[in-house]
Amino acid sequence: MSETKIYEYVWLDGYQPEPSIRSKIKTTTDDTPPEWSFDGSSTQQAEGASSDCLLLPVNTYDCPLFADYLVMCQVETGEHETHPSNTRAAAEKILSDEWWFGFEQEYFFTNKDGSPLGWEDGTPRPQGDYYCGVGADNVQGREISEAHLEACIDAGIELTGTNAEVALGQWEYQCFGKGVKAGDDLWISRYLLYKIAEDFGVGVNLHPKPKSGDWNGSGMHTNFSNEEMRTNGSENLFTSMCEKLGEVHEEGIANYGSDNDQRLTGLHETQNISEFSYGISDRGASIRIPIYTLEHDWNGYLEDRRPASNADPYKIIAHIVGTLT
Ligand code: MG
Repeated sequence: MSETKIYEYVWLDGYQPEPSIRSKIKTTTDDTPPEWSFDGSSTQQAEGASSDCLLLPVNTYDCPLFADYLVMCQVETGEHETHPSNTRAAAEKILSDEWWFGFEQEYFFTNKDGSPLGWEDGTPRPQGDYYCGVGADNVQGREISEAHLEACIDAGIELTGTNAEVALGQWEYQCFGKGVKAGDDLWISRYLLYKIAEDFGVGVNLHPKPKSGDWNGSGMHTNFSNEEMRTNGSENLFTSMCEKLGEVHEEGIANYGSDNDQRLTGLHETQNISEFSYGISDRGASIRIPIYTLEHDWNGYLEDRRPASNADPYKIIAHIVGTLT
């Protein structure tokens, strides 16, 4: 008899404007995770009278935590049709593995009352010392960030780095992936972040501007390239791509996360949400052309600086690739 395996199924619910992550465990002797179902009436994905929704596994990861495997799923209706909440399906249709993405996921750790970690006793000293800082006065939650980094690597997700961010209790990690799996990996990395922080009694806040005033918001700068950009680029190729994305700026913003107007103000290394611009090395632009790309004779990548920390990566990559192909 084969051994019993513990699969943790992970999926996105029907909440708006951004989905939340849900998970539940199935034990089975099956060597691969089978299709499964859940109560969609509890996740805003179905009515109570016809509540079954289906979970279709799309990627399986080694689980560094309790379960043996993490199973990223997409949701179908009880009639085996693509569920309206399934943003992955649209991305998968147009994505190929020649498209590479590097997401810079920023977020805040929070106490149970919702205040950022380190803000229990009131407003901390102004920004300045916290970015890539060291020392108990300057950093909060490092042990969680490090446990998360290790867990993602153990799961086979390419986290390429992490750093303390500009505000106290704020962090970033960079998550690299190819094709639609880049979106799967980012969602699973978020799942692991929530789960590991939960073990520390700490929350995670993905809102793009949890603290108003002179505090940086959280974004998810999205670096991207395709084969031509990496190996056969030119100034014209890169600027024409920026122009194309600029022509559909409003559509992009609609796909790049809610409440992003609170973050894209023109301050704190952002371009104003109502304007579009691009520039070499320009962190005040909507899209930055990295110096790396210039120094490699216009072979490299672009950085879309508009996506918010709470954005759905499937929507981001579908917008970029849909616009440029
Ligand atoms: Mg950052």
